[in-house]
Amino acid sequence: MGIAVGIDLGTTYSAVGRIDPTTGHAVIIRNPEGEAVTPSVVAVMPGGKTLIGAEAKEQQELGYTETAAFFKRSMGQKDFSLTLCGSQYSASDLAGILLRGLVQQAQEVSGETVDAAVVTVPAYFKNSEREATLEAASKAGLKVLGLLNEPTAAVFAYGLNADGASRKVLVYDLGGGTFDVTMAQVDGEEIRVLGSDGSHMLGGKDWDDALVRWITDQFSDEFDVDLSDDSEQMGQLAVVAEKAKKRLSRANSAPIRVSYQGHTGKYELTRDEFDDITSFMLQETSDIVDRLFASMDPPVSWQDVDGAILVGGSTRMKQVHDYIERMSGKPPLGGVNVDEAVALGAAIRANQNASGAPTMLLGSGSSPSPSDGPSMLLGGRKVTDVTSHSLGMIAESSDRSRYVNDILIPKNSPIPARQTQRRELRVPTSGGELEVYLLQGQEPAPLDNEVAGKYVFTDIPYVGDGRTLIDVTYSYDENGVIAISAVQTETDTSLPMHREPVPEDMSWATRSPLENDLIEKKANNGVANRGEVYIFIDMSLSMFSGIYSAIAAAQQFVYQLNLEYMHVGIIGFAKQTKIFQVASSNNSEIDDCISKLHDLFENKACGLGSYNPLGLLRTLYSDYGTNKIALILTDGEWVGSHHAILDAHSAWRRGIDTIGIGMGDANESFLKRISSVQDLSELTDASHLVESFSKIARVISSGDGLVR
Ligand code: AMP
Repeated sequence: MGIAVGIDLGTTYSAVGRIDPTTGHAVIIRNPEGEAVTPSVVAVMPGGKTLIGAEAKEQQELGYTETAAFFKRSMGQKDFSLTLCGSQYSASDLAGILLRGLVQQAQEVSGETVDAAVVTVPAYFKNSEREATLEAASKAGLKVLGLLNEPTAAVFAYGLNADGASRKVLVYDLGGGTFDVTMAQVDGEEIRVLGSDGSHMLGGKDWDDALVRWITDQFSDEFDVDLSDDSEQMGQLAVVAEKAKKRLSRANSAPIRVSYQGHTGKYELTRDEFDDITSFMLQETSDIVDRLFASMDPPVSWQDVDGAILVGGSTRMKQVHDYIERMSGKPPLGGVNVDEAVALGAAIRANQNASGAPTMLLGSGSSPSPSDGPSMLLGGRKVTDVTSHSLGMIAESSDRSRYVNDILIPKNSPIPARQTQRRELRVPTSGGELEVYLLQGQEPAPLDNEVAGKYVFTDIPYVGDGRTLIDVTYSYDENGVIAISAVQTETDTSLPMHREPVPEDMSWATRSPLENDLIEKKANNGVANRGEVYIFIDMSLSMFSGIYSAIAAAQQFVYQLNLEYMHVGIIGFAKQTKIFQVASSNNSEIDDCISKLHDLFENKACGLGSYNPLGLLRTLYSDYGTNKIALILTDGEWVGSHHAILDAHSAWRRGIDTIGIGMGDANESFLKRISSVQDLSELTDASHLVESFSKIARVISSGDGLVR
C-alpha cells in the first residue's frame, strides 16, 4: 500500500509532505536536489519531454524560452494558453505536469508509491480556480483526497490544539507574489477558519522592486545615468535587490554594488532604510488585516488574537516579525519552517479521516510530544473552513428598477455550506427554462462581482396557470467547489441542468428589468410577427386606370416588410380568383410577379367581372408563423358581397386578419364590413394608394400587432 501526501502547489515554489511512519510527525519529502521546496516551473523540450523544478528553472535561466512559471495565477482562466514547443498548454495542463513531476520525485526519494494527495489552494481561490486545480490533479493521474486552503493547512502544521485550549490564531502569509491573512479559531479538537482576506498584487517581489527603484535612484544621483532604460540591467538588479533583502533578514545592513557603463556604485543599505522605503507595503498588509478584523461578526481586534503564525518566504523579513509583535504584544509563534508549513499541514490532513482521526497506523514505540513540532497525533482535529467569497445570483430588485446580487451564501460561512432560494417563474407549456448566473463577490451591482458561471435548468414541467416555484440550491463542498441544483416545488422534480459559457456581453444586467422587457418584447414580436400576408388585387376591367398605382403600392409594401419574417403572396381576382404567387420570402420572385401584374391584367388573366374572392381564405394559408393577413384592394362592389362578409367573419375566427382598401367606386361601408382591422381599412384614391399600403406595412413590421 502506498502513502498519502500533502502537496503545497505554490506560485513560485511547491513542496510535498508526508507523515513519518515511525514518529507520526509530518515531514517534507525533499526533492532529488535535497531541497525542501521545488520551483514551480515547467519546461517542454524538443520532442515533447517535460522537465519540472530546478531542471526547468535552470533551462529558463539559460534563456530557453519554452518554459512556464507563475501559471498558478492563471488557473481557471479560459483564455490563458501557452504554446511551448508547438503545443498548447492551459494553466491546468502545466499544473498537471508539475504535479506529476512532484509526485514522481517524491516517489523516487521516499521509495514509496504515492496513492493519493491533499492539494492546497489559496483561500481566495474561486470556483473556477479550484476546479482547474482538481483538473490538474486528474491530468497528473493523482487521486485527490481533497483541496485544503493554505492558511488552514498552516494551522494544522502548527498543531495549535495540543493543549486543548481555545485560541484565536492569525495566519499571516506573505509569499513571493501574494498576501493572505486568515483568522482561525482553535477549540480543542476543532479548527474553525473564521475568515480570510488578502491581495494577489502584493508579495516579496514588490519589496524587491522597491529596492531596485532605490538603487536606480542612488545610481542616477551619483552618475546621472538611468539604469531603468536597460532591461537586461534591470533583470540583474532584481537579483541583486532580492539578495540584499534576504541579507537584511539576518543582518542590520547589506552592501550593494552596481557596475554599469564604466561607473561603479557602492551602497550600504541599512535595515532601517530598507524598512523605510518599503513601509507602505507593510502598511498595506496591516490595512488588509484590519479589514479582515472589521469583517468578522462580531468584529475582532489585535487584543483578541492569541497567537500569530507566519507562512511564506517573505515573512522572514524582520519588519514582519516586528509588526506582529508590535500589534499583538508577543512574537509570532515559531517552530515551523515558513516554507514548509503548508505542505506539512496538507500531509497531516491527507492522513486523517473526515472527523479528524488519524487514518494511518504508527510504528510501535513512538510517542510524539507537542514540542517535537507538527504531528498528526496532537489530537484528532476536525477542520471547519469558511467560504472566501459570497455566493449569489443575479436577481431583479423588488421594484424591477435594477438587477442585484442576491447573496445566498455570505462570505466566511462555514463549509460545507448549502442554501436554498425560492424563485417564481413563468413557464410555457413545454420547454420551460431557468437561467441562473452565479456571482462570486459581495458587491451589490452584479457585474462588479465575478460572474462565475451560467447554469441553465431545462424541461421545467408546465403547472397550474404557467407560474411555478423553483427552489434553487447553492452548495459549497469541502473543497470549496460550488454545485447548483434546482427542484420544481409543485412536482418535486429535480431539473436537468447544463452549464453554458458566460456570455461576453452581459450588458443586459446593467439595464433595468423593465427596460429589458421592452427590448425582449420587441425582439419577440419580431418572431411573433412571422406569418403570411396575401395581397388581393382587383383585376376587373375598371382597374385599367388604377393598375399602375396598385403595382407601385404593392412594390412599396413588399419593400417595407422583412420578408424573412413576413412572407408575401399575390392573388388576382375578377371573375376567377387566381394565386399568382404563393406566399414566399423570395424578394425577386415576388417582385417579378408584381411587375407582371400589368400583363396579366391586359390578358384578362382572371376573366371579366367582380366576384367575391374571399372564399379562398379558407385554404390559403400555411402553418408558417402566427400572423395571417389579407390585404384586399378593390375598386368596386362584388357579386356575392353577402358571402364575402360571411367568408371574412369565418376567416377572422380562424385568426386571419383582413384589411380592405378601396379606390374608385368601392363602397366604404362594405370595406369596413369585410375588414377585421378597421383602423387600417380605408377608401382612398390612386394617388394615395402607395401611402395607404406603406402605412399598413409599417404597422405589420412594427411588431405591435394588428388591432381588431
Ligand atoms: P514563497 O512564495 O513563500 O516561496 O516566498 C518567496 C518570497 O520569499 C520571495 O519573494 C523571496 O524573495 C522571499 N524570501 C525568501 N527568503 C527570504 C528571506 N530570508 N528574507 C526575505 N525574503 C525572503
